Amino acid sequence: MSAEIEAPLIGVSRHRLAVDGKGVTSLVAFHGCTLRCRFCLNPHCLVPQRVSRRVTPRALVDELMIDNLYFLATGGGVAFGGGEPCLRSEFIEKFRALAPPRWRITIETSLNVDSRHLERLLPIVNEYIVDIKDLDAGVYRNYTGGDVARATDNLRWLLSHDGMAARVIVRVPHIPDYNTPDGVARTIATLYAMGVVNIDEFHYRLPQ
Ligand code: SF4
Repeated sequence: MSAEIEAPLIGVSRHRLAVDGKGVTSLVAFHGCTLRCRFCLNPHCLVPQRVSRRVTPRALVDELMIDNLYFLATGGGVAFGGGEPCLRSEFIEKFRALAPPRWRITIETSLNVDSRHLERLLPIVNEYIVDIKDLDAGVYRNYTGGDVARATDNLRWLLSHDGMAARVIVRVPHIPDYNTPDGVARTIATLYAMGVVNIDEFHYRLPQ
């Protein structure tokens, strides 16, 4: 029998309300990301020595079960973030199979991952919170070190599925020193043209 899959975590945050989708949620933050954003909100996820522990899907379900009643009463569940949770698609697939069916699964992702991860997650995820950064290729490259085309291709693919637009929230940040209000407006216009209906425009607050 093959060994059970494990994933590295940087932490679990319980009792979050209306910040990661519907209801009460527990945020599970995975270690590891495909991008290197200049103002990464969770830089621990990029440093190997900051892995707090490794868990199996079964151990994580058992751990989160303590809040089962909250999840069921509020229509909440589990938000997977990080880092980049889509890199852990196989782990999340196994977690879904073991967790109570009424737990909602939310993914907080940049979508800058190989598309096979998104294909695996499609039947599993209830809601996507997409941190798209900026759709200008140069701004995106400067800020994240990555290629915006992979994120936009994946977003188009996601939106091509019936009813998906209502389940996707795209977050568009104003990033100090990297994009401009006009650039943000262009990104938002492009997102609407792609079929996005839920956009959360916000400002990064940098530590003083
Ligand atoms: S995508 Fe998120 S976790 Fe990854 S480097 Fe950027 S801010 Fe950090």
